[in-house]
Amino acid sequence: MIFSKGNKLNSIIPIRCPRCHKGKFLKTSVYDLSRFTTVRNQCDCCGLKYRLEPSFYFGSMYVAYGLGVALMVITTLISYLISSTFSFLATFVFICIVLTLLGPYINALSKIIWANMFFSYQENCSTDKK
Ligand SMILES: [Zn+2]
Repeated sequence: MIFSKGNKLNSIIPIRCPRCHKGKFLKTSVYDLSRFTTVRNQCDCCGLKYRLEPSFYFGSMYVAYGLGVALMVITTLISYLISSTFSFLATFVFICIVLTLLGPYINALSKIIWANMFFSYQENCSTDKK
């Protein structure tokens, strides 16, 4: 773990269980487009059920929107800094490429951030398999 124990970034960056930070959160890898960022039913390590209610992850769309806007701003700034002549069309194309390439990762990040808003870290889970 890069960050201190219990820090939510230990769950968000590697996309792991928000409670134990060990179990997998997604059924497949982020870029497996056939099962586009499908969340597991429960953690295979601590047994946490990832869905509090049906359609629980619809709310992650708000997080994905914020991440997408932040990424567009960052992409625009990078485009502005590396280009001697700023072009709106070139910047738009650059943003489209970046959002297309990072779209699945943004989707997965938005779901794990959303889950971390509702679940907190527990060092010793009651059903922790060690
Ligand atoms: Zn877990």
